[in-house]
Amino acid sequence: MNAGMHPPALVLNADFRPLSYFPLSLWSWQDSIKAVFLERVTIISEYEEMVSSPSLTMPLPSVLALKEYIPQGRTPAFTRFNVFLRDKFTCQYCDTKLPASDLTFDHVTPRSKGGRSRWDNVVAACSPCNLKKANKMPLKCNMHPLKKPAAPTVWQLQDNGRAYPPNYLHHSWRDYLYWDSELLEDVLDLPYEDEKSIRADTLN
Ligand SMILES: [Zn+2]
Repeated sequence: MNAGMHPPALVLNADFRPLSYFPLSLWSWQDSIKAVFLERVTIISEYEEMVSSPSLTMPLPSVLALKEYIPQGRTPAFTRFNVFLRDKFTCQYCDTKLPASDLTFDHVTPRSKGGRSRWDNVVAACSPCNLKKANKMPLKCNMHPLKKPAAPTVWQLQDNGRAYPPNYLHHSWRDYLYWDSELLEDVLDLPYEDEKSIRADTLN
């Protein structure tokens, strides 16, 4: 078997929650084994597949938990992706849910009127709404965001991210991801692709 084809391991914080949901916290099998040998993680579950080196053979880890807790209280980074995630990939003017590739950003108070690029002034918008609003103040065009924009907490983003199942889910991961795994049955048998890729159709 090609070594590069081994599946990744789901990485949990020391409290057994995934480090992140979206994208899901996954480590390559190489990084996983390295972390096991450095004693940074506990193996929670294993694949049937074995990995061998000249000196040893061991089952491939499928779920790992960090031994040391990484605090999640930080303020999330103000990034394009996190704005979409906060707004649940939904245009904040017409309430349409779209894949990231079809969304744009709107400055509620336009930049030309002194509006800043900050959590409290930037929202996800579809192109037609963005064009319609253009450089106008919300009152002037009667276009108000569905939710008043504000900086989210890490927990809010994690919670929103939970709604978007990854392309590939090994059955050993389900217990740590979702309470109701039945909802996800259709994604369970997909081949492993790229854990970081975001399929547009999972967003609809
Ligand atoms: Zn819209």
